[in-house]
Amino acid sequence: MTLITKAKELIFQEPQNKNESPKVAVVLRISCLLFMLYLLFAGIGFAIMKHPYLVMFAVLFMILYAYGLYCTYQDKMIPAFFLLNINTLMWVVMFYVIFGEGTGVQHFIFALILVDLMIDRKYPAVTILILYIVRLALYFGRINGLPIEPTDMLGGLSPYLYVLSVVLECATVLFVGIYFTKDAFQMESRLQDYNKELRRVASTDPLTKVWNRFRMLEHVEKCLKKFNKSELQFLSVAIGDIDFFKHVNDTYGHECGDEVLKALANMFKNEMHGIGAVARWGGEEFLFLFENMNGDDACTVLSMLQTNINRLDIPYEGENHKVTMTFGLAEYDFQLSLDENIKIADDKLYKGKEGGRNRIVY
Ligand code: GH3
Ligand code: MG
Ligand code: MG
Repeated sequence: MTLITKAKELIFQEPQNKNESPKVAVVLRISCLLFMLYLLFAGIGFAIMKHPYLVMFAVLFMILYAYGLYCTYQDKMIPAFFLLNINTLMWVVMFYVIFGEGTGVQHFIFALILVDLMIDRKYPAVTILILYIVRLALYFGRINGLPIEPTDMLGGLSPYLYVLSVVLECATVLFVGIYFTKDAFQMESRLQDYNKELRRVASTDPLTKVWNRFRMLEHVEKCLKKFNKSELQFLSVAIGDIDFFKHVNDTYGHECGDEVLKALANMFKNEMHGIGAVARWGGEEFLFLFENMNGDDACTVLSMLQTNINRLDIPYEGENHKVTMTFGLAEYDFQLSLDENIKIADDKLYKGKEGGRNRIVY
């Protein structure tokens, strides 16, 4: 395993405690590492300029970050979060007090704000306000006599430190920004897919794959709204029930009955496409809704469906089975409720059964 893959693995290692967010751990680690990198290069600069105390402080702050890193592997995200903030503020303020704005050290406050914004879910406003207050305090400190030492104490090192701070601030912003937005977009699209799938499953009858009662009721509501907005003039509703279905089950078995239901549903779905909607209403009953069709038009469609049913051969275990259906059809009366309209269609269906089955009663 190469060094890079090993390092990646370490950075992206998931917390053992499943309650801890893996994202928070990763952002804490990356921030600690980037800030340590700054201190490392700054420390080298201080060493070149022979400032042993500054080197000592750089090393001390690096050790504190290292401890913060260690905390993330111990699932101690809150101590790591505080350590990251307090440690960063300590050296930023310290270097600012010593050198002023010339080294660009104040940029790290903005980087820290972004990091905190991403990981502090409880009190992000408080954290960010505190950081901005520190930023303001630094400004007022500067106009009231800071820095203690002029920047040229660093000689030619000042631009080096400035560029270094900008580069590492940029790296932090880039990483945290991209890592989070990429993740958020992915999550959003996954959630959308999941919602679609959830809706599909909740709306579909598992056996026949046509709409279930719940989905049809939703559709009726939509049609009624259209009627109220004068976007729809007519609506017709029909209930179809398989004739002597119990006999199919009793003679050929329940599975054969299932095949009959599936074959019929499949045919209805194909034939009703663009004409109206079909749902499995109950055991062996289907509900049909014809949008913008009066009773006569709907009756023509039902006759076509009935012809198809009578022609349909349903294969099961080497045998072809045939069934018939009876339909009760009603043109929707918008003065009545949906239940009342369905009741009218249902009563007609009952009459059809009484009258000998395999017919449409309108
Ligand atoms: P009718 O002509 O009067 O409608 O007679 P029928 O036998 O169809 O009516 P009945 O209501 O007595 O029987 C309906 C049967 O439908 C009873 C039930 O076992 C069966 N059934 C309901 N749901 C399913 C299902 O999902 N699969 C199968 N195979 N049978 C089902
Ligand atoms: Mg029935
Ligand atoms: Mg029946």
